[in-house]
Amino acid sequence: MSLDYDVIIIGAGAAGLFAGSNCTKRGLSTLVVDHAAKPAEKIRISGGGRCNFTNLETDAKRFLSENPHFAKSALARFTPWDFIALMAEHGLTYHEKTLGQLFCDQKSGAIIKMLLDELEKHGGTLQLSTDVRNVRKSNDQFSVQTSTGELRARHVIIATGGLSIPKIGASGFGYEIARQFGHDIVETRPGLVPFTFSGQTKERFASLSGVATNVDVESENGTRFHEAMLFTHRGLSGPAILQISSYWSPGEPVHVDFLPGTDLSAQLTEARHDQPRKKLSDLLAQWLPNRLVADLLAELKIDKRAGDLSNKDIALISGRLQNYALTPTQTEGYRTAEVTVGGVDTAGLSSKTMESRHCPGLYFIGEVVDVTGWLGGYNFQWAWASAHAAAMAIAEA
Ligand code: FAD
Repeated sequence: MSLDYDVIIIGAGAAGLFAGSNCTKRGLSTLVVDHAAKPAEKIRISGGGRCNFTNLETDAKRFLSENPHFAKSALARFTPWDFIALMAEHGLTYHEKTLGQLFCDQKSGAIIKMLLDELEKHGGTLQLSTDVRNVRKSNDQFSVQTSTGELRARHVIIATGGLSIPKIGASGFGYEIARQFGHDIVETRPGLVPFTFSGQTKERFASLSGVATNVDVESENGTRFHEAMLFTHRGLSGPAILQISSYWSPGEPVHVDFLPGTDLSAQLTEARHDQPRKKLSDLLAQWLPNRLVADLLAELKIDKRAGDLSNKDIALISGRLQNYALTPTQTEGYRTAEVTVGGVDTAGLSSKTMESRHCPGLYFIGEVVDVTGWLGGYNFQWAWASAHAAAMAIAEA
């Protein structure tokens, strides 16, 4: 039986489209298939509509995985500068926000158009609104059963992403295929996601809704981020919280330093001597939003002037504000999570090619793999880099 394609890619998201264009560019007949009606919806909604497409500080240290070394090879062979060069060929420009985060000056749709143009330019095919029912392998070829019929190929790339935002097409299909071919799945959980609280804490945070402040936040395993935290009517959000959520497990506290880089104990001791008439609330308002100061002091039940603070008061205030333990009830879950932590166990994949060790010719790329980036463009960089690694390997096979 003749083959329909050299490569069938399941999932027309960031990784799938990029793998598709890289395969076609190297002369491979390629089909990208997706069950959604539109391709790459996550790119469209990313970065507030301007796609934070990479990060200049890309390094395997900024990714979570059971194997912290796994991402190194692919990331080294396709860097942020390689993607920037491709954008330049398409006349797309970018700007850096903070912390190495690069955003497209044009809308996110321009990145999608670039990926689709690249796929089409070299003769790749995109088939949308197509359910993939199963994938089987026999005699060195794959048979992919879809809602529009059976397709055959020598190579199959699974690029179905993670579980976050099911309403725009996320599914666990990639994990099912992985299990079918003997792969383990590292337990999945929502990442880059706001925390929710219950009871009095929820009410308290809701009353502070809209207040934002820069904090240091630390997880139980000692991972620390210095970014903004935002109070919401459901709990806590903002970059600091999204980042630490990927390192959080239910039941654990996270520790917040509301005054990073400040020795509050020393500041209060000095103020007791230098500014004895100054109210504690006014002192703290130098560094923190008024509404937050009022809330924290109400909780501590301290309303004094600097000169009246005892050593015990100072220890209590600074201890609390610089190491505030918060135990979230849960997260907002896959409904709003930007990523899925966990996924196809990298132990079953080649870090150079993304090929399955259990089933030659089968590849897993992008978010479906147990490689999860920090907030800030790292997840797209992983999608591009892992897609590139798989396409190069297939072209050389
Ligand atoms: P996806 O882009 O999710 O693509 C998977 C594709 O597979 C989808 O098109 C889906 O329809 C398809 N699919 C799923 N199941 C099936 C099936 N059974 N059959 C056929 N097709 C299927 N990362 C950044 O780096 N920068 C950002 O600015 C950023 N912003 C984000 C904002 C939001 C709101 C969200 C949710 C995520 C954001 N991310 C960002 C994360 C980033 O979007 C993902 O990590 C990235 O899209 C993963 O690429 P992927 O190709 O592996 O998966």
